[in-house]
Amino acid sequence: MVLKIFCKLHLHQNNPASARILFIIFVVKLIFYLYLGLTKTDENDRLSHHLILIAIMDIIIAQNSGFCYGVRRALRLVENLRTKFSGPIYTLGELIHNPQIINYLEQKGVHSISSPEDVDKGIVVIRSHGAAPEVLAKLDRPSITIKDATCPHVKKIQNLVKELSLSNEEVLICGNARHPETQGLLGYCHSKGLVIENIDEARHLPPAKKRAVLAQSTQDLEIFQQVVAALLEKTNHLQVYNTICNSTLTRQKSTTTLAKKVDVLIIIGGRNSSNTNKLFLQAKKILPRTYFVEYPQEITSSMIKNARRVGLSGGASTPPEALMEAVAVIKKIDQAQQSNQQKVTPCQS
Ligand code: SF4
Repeated sequence: MVLKIFCKLHLHQNNPASARILFIIFVVKLIFYLYLGLTKTDENDRLSHHLILIAIMDIIIAQNSGFCYGVRRALRLVENLRTKFSGPIYTLGELIHNPQIINYLEQKGVHSISSPEDVDKGIVVIRSHGAAPEVLAKLDRPSITIKDATCPHVKKIQNLVKELSLSNEEVLICGNARHPETQGLLGYCHSKGLVIENIDEARHLPPAKKRAVLAQSTQDLEIFQQVVAALLEKTNHLQVYNTICNSTLTRQKSTTTLAKKVDVLIIIGGRNSSNTNKLFLQAKKILPRTYFVEYPQEITSSMIKNARRVGLSGGASTPPEALMEAVAVIKKIDQAQQSNQQKVTPCQS
């Protein structure tokens, strides 16, 4: 039908009025076919209109997704170091929670170590999550040069917990107890820090006169709000600091907004990425057809089957290239599905 209309439009190019009428007919027909495709329940009818639906599959990338400012900054610092120094470069823990980036850095001779004792000389980079003062003290040796890539926002939280621990009985960090940022923050709390992962843990705390609570930079806003509400019931004077960073908030908002608009949502990122996992869990609550893949190649045809709008998003540690690669993978699957459909003879009755 599309081809027929365009041939006619071409023939009528010297007559703008009739070309306009033909175009309107084309749009009306298209809407009519779409309506049929959406409303027919008979399997044969659905099959005969499926090509139209497939042909207009949209792939939408969340407005805010992929590398955040802090991660980009840390990666740039390491890449600059690599161009200037030929000696060994280490990162204390994985620089970015993403397997593609870790492979890329390994190839450039940048290796990740898990503790200060694993290295005796060279450059050691502190990643964007930061590190506790006692860890930094262990690296303070003449044979080692420390390069600090702690995100400026995380630095602010470190300074805040240090200050709050001087005037409060307890400083509560709402976050993941095993996450390196949280472990680093505890080191600035003068032994007054405590990690609260969820509302249940907050409910089990004893009453207190004075407490402060803040959040890991990548915390889910809803979880933080729930924890604060539970703490208000058992603390006379509660100081609350929402320290979730703007990059995290915008990624969470963009992803949940997108989840409401698409048929399928695919979240791409490292399985060990805290913020990417949170995006997945938040979106899954809204859209059951939400999938989490570490590599774009993990996207399968069954994931996007019958979808007209496919959304893509990734956390602060997802490279933008991974999102673009995912677009290419989805397009390829879509094309294959279309050609398979064309092999099926549509019902003529
Ligand atoms: S998520 Fe926020 S706090 Fe964490 S590195 Fe990125 S910008 Fe910094």
